[in-house]
Amino acid sequence: MKRMQVSVDDKIIDRLIEVNEVISQAGDWKQTLNQAIIVLRKIFIYDNLAIYRRDPSGLIEVVYARSVGRGLAAEADAAWGEEIASQALAARQMVLKEPKDRTSTDDRLANAHLLGLPLFIEGNPYGALVFIRFGGPVFTPEQSSIAQLAGQLFAQLIHRNLILDKMEHLKGLEQQMRLQEDFVATVSHDLRTPLGFIKGYTTTLLRSDTDWDAATQREFLTIIDEETDRLAELIENVLESARLQSQTLRMNFHPVRLDALIREAAVRAQTHYRSLRIKLDLEEGSVVEADNVRLAQVFENLFSNTIKYAPGARIQITLHYKDDCAAITFSDNGPGIDKDFLPFIFERFYRVPGQASGTGTGLGLFICKQIIQAHHGKIWAESELGEGTRFFIEIPVTQA
Ligand code: ADP
Repeated sequence: MKRMQVSVDDKIIDRLIEVNEVISQAGDWKQTLNQAIIVLRKIFIYDNLAIYRRDPSGLIEVVYARSVGRGLAAEADAAWGEEIASQALAARQMVLKEPKDRTSTDDRLANAHLLGLPLFIEGNPYGALVFIRFGGPVFTPEQSSIAQLAGQLFAQLIHRNLILDKMEHLKGLEQQMRLQEDFVATVSHDLRTPLGFIKGYTTTLLRSDTDWDAATQREFLTIIDEETDRLAELIENVLESARLQSQTLRMNFHPVRLDALIREAAVRAQTHYRSLRIKLDLEEGSVVEADNVRLAQVFENLFSNTIKYAPGARIQITLHYKDDCAAITFSDNGPGIDKDFLPFIFERFYRVPGQASGTGTGLGLFICKQIIQAHHGKIWAESELGEGTRFFIEIPVTQA
């Protein structure tokens, strides 16, 4: 970038050092920038400031905008600076734009002085920084230099933030890979165990040297039947989660009465697990646009989790409507989930450490979350060790 020869007084240098100190602070980059521009404004007057980012397709979008004084209304819409941002990016240097008719001071907002600066990150154009002064004064060479330095400092801040984002992303991937490895270990174990039973009991039944009485045959066949179901469920879960992950699972939406759906799911769960104690408090009424099969699957998962992780616990399900939303709670008074593990339970393959193998694969709640999200809803959990676990589900009643 071209540098201009200007003399700068000590006060300005002190302020710039202060801006640099603020920029060097850790924390959210937009908040840091808010603080930095307060200092900057003591030596560099402007009405609006905006930072634009050029995405890989070449589109320019505002990532930060602040207005002070006369241009306050412009904050919500920083479209005013897009053109000069593009020009500065194309020219790869500072661009100044003066109003055509400087004598007319009647309409300050029409009388805008713009300064656009390209922002570079590791030598590559990232976007542009634009300052605007409504009704002047013009940007002097000294102020242009200050703006250039500010632009370089802001670019460093954005760069640091991008690196932090990438690190977060990598951490997520690392966690995902670890979970995937655990998952492979669990699934190979969980596939082999039922398969071992099926093979073992079938071979035993087929032995030509032994005649099994009817009762024993039935017992062995029942085991084979149950283990086949377990295997089928496991395979189905793995496939389902892969389909949800790749977003190839189609939802079939139609009007559904939630209270009826929950009641039916509870009756089914009760038939399946006779020992379950379920209390329902369901507000009747509104209909939601939903895929009833998938939504029922969410409740089946929650019931089966209670059986697995909170055996003997009482279940309470409530349904209420508030603010165009159906709010459901699904609570148990089981052992609960440690707060250190709670934030991860909806992640794919995540299982709270120490769970016995054969009880699950860490896919159930991931599948629940994907299904609820496909309904434009939210699912989350709260838990207290020794008190129990409560799942919350919210689904909008009216949907696009
Ligand atoms: P899994 O296939 O292991 O059951 P989920 O995704 O359904 O996977 O659940 C993730 C983890 O959350 C489980 O491993 C279990 O430790 C914990 N969990 C789920 N529901 C409950 C519950 N009602 N009470 C206690 N822990 C639970």
